[in-house]
Amino acid sequence: MASPTYDLAVIGGGPAGYVAGVRAAQSGGRCVVIERDALGGTCLNWGCIPSKSLIASAALLRNIRSAADYGIEVKEARGDLNAMVEKAEKIVAGLVSGIAALFKANKVDHIAGDAVIEGKGQLRVKLKEGGEAEVRAERILIATGSRPAQIPAFPLDGKYIISSDQAVHLRELPRRLLIVGAGVIGCEFGCLYRELGAEVTMVELLDRALPLGDADVSKLIEREMKKQKIKLLTGKKILKVERKGSEMVAEVEGAEPLAADLVLVSIGRTMNTDKLGLDKIGVKLGRRGEVLADKGMRTSVPGVFAAGDCIGGLMLAHVASAEGIVAAENAMGADIEMNYRGIPAGIFTHPEVGTAGMSEEEARRDGREVRVGRFQMRALGKAQAERALAGEVKVIADARTDELLGVHVVGEHAADLVHEAALAIRHGMTAADLAEVVHAHPTLSEALMEAAEDVHGTAIHVPPKKAR
Ligand code: FAD
Repeated sequence: MASPTYDLAVIGGGPAGYVAGVRAAQSGGRCVVIERDALGGTCLNWGCIPSKSLIASAALLRNIRSAADYGIEVKEARGDLNAMVEKAEKIVAGLVSGIAALFKANKVDHIAGDAVIEGKGQLRVKLKEGGEAEVRAERILIATGSRPAQIPAFPLDGKYIISSDQAVHLRELPRRLLIVGAGVIGCEFGCLYRELGAEVTMVELLDRALPLGDADVSKLIEREMKKQKIKLLTGKKILKVERKGSEMVAEVEGAEPLAADLVLVSIGRTMNTDKLGLDKIGVKLGRRGEVLADKGMRTSVPGVFAAGDCIGGLMLAHVASAEGIVAAENAMGADIEMNYRGIPAGIFTHPEVGTAGMSEEEARRDGREVRVGRFQMRALGKAQAERALAGEVKVIADARTDELLGVHVVGEHAADLVHEAALAIRHGMTAADLAEVVHAHPTLSEALMEAAEDVHGTAIHVPPKKAR
């Protein structure tokens, strides 16, 4: 079956691909999105949305359990993981059908199947319903995303050694959960399953949890996880994991073996760029298998674009979508570039983290002399009222120019709170600019204003720097 020639064929219907499809259509293009699994990709089906739905259930459970702190008597609260997963799956199904409806409304064609590149502007699709289709397009966007990385010494078996793909569908709570890797995904699942009652041990090869972010954020989250009785081993390598009798036993380099009922491996992601036929048209890949793309999302081959996790950048859903938009517009004749300055990110641990811009370490590596301001959440009336006491805001500014370089929020709603900082950083504003904005009282946002003031030692509700 041969199809008509499209202006743009998108491989992958995740946040990069489906958004690109809609934008290409908005720009007047004839577009097809080819997806081999479910529309919405990792984010919607196995990532952001199901995990955050489960985390929201766990947060409500935590709040109900601390009802007495609010003057409310509750006899007993128990989580039902099965019902929580059903809630998440219902939300996912609704959002997936929402993308199909968006495609219909925008006249974006959707082909359910596995695509490979056969030649310039030429794709072959193994259709889900059986058979094959040929697709021709003036331009191609590679938006094939990523999958969980594996450890060869103990590969995923989907039953006792699982990845996040299975973790979001777990219907039975393990009594003892071992998490390999204390990055963003590992820490989110650690806090989630601990709240639901599992004994959680996390093992991280590097020297701290959340090792790619600001070290002060790691310190705060490690402290909070310790309060939750999550056991964290850092600077340790798991050599092998074996099933012994009814339990899993992990051999840890230089430490006692660890026993668990379930092992969750969260050590990063592998780019879906193999078996795509990229070599047939000469698309260049990097060392990690990522498609090499410039800020206009152009690959080494004219007319072939790439966006999202498959280019191995920040690996965030909103970044994938923003890159998809740039790719789609450029494929339709524009000449625009991604702006990565001040991109926000949320980490949905307990407490939550919201970051924008550089960590202090990155800023120093960049050759900047920095000045730091801080403000503890517990000093705010609103945080006291909401019992949202954990966490702080850290503002990093250039010591010479006062330019905002990074803002890191730890606390309730941190991922929402950080956006004013993202706006300020993106537009080159200073710590003084952020401090000068009058913030409504009582809100958690006041912490950003006070931390920005603290950069210059003028925060009202913080003792003078020399007295600390
Ligand atoms: P994907 O979402 O992976 O989509 C790629 C799609 O391409 C897939 O659907 C795949 O089936 C399809 N595909 C691949 N090859 C082919 C082919 N040959 N033919 C047809 N189709 C193909 N990010 C956030 O910003 N916030 C979060 O809170 C967050 N939480 C996360 C939690 C977890 C547990 C995980 C795993 C990830 C999370 N992420 C989060 C990351 C986010 O999910 C990804 O950054 C995002 O999904 C990347 O979008 P993408 O479109 O590039 O790739």
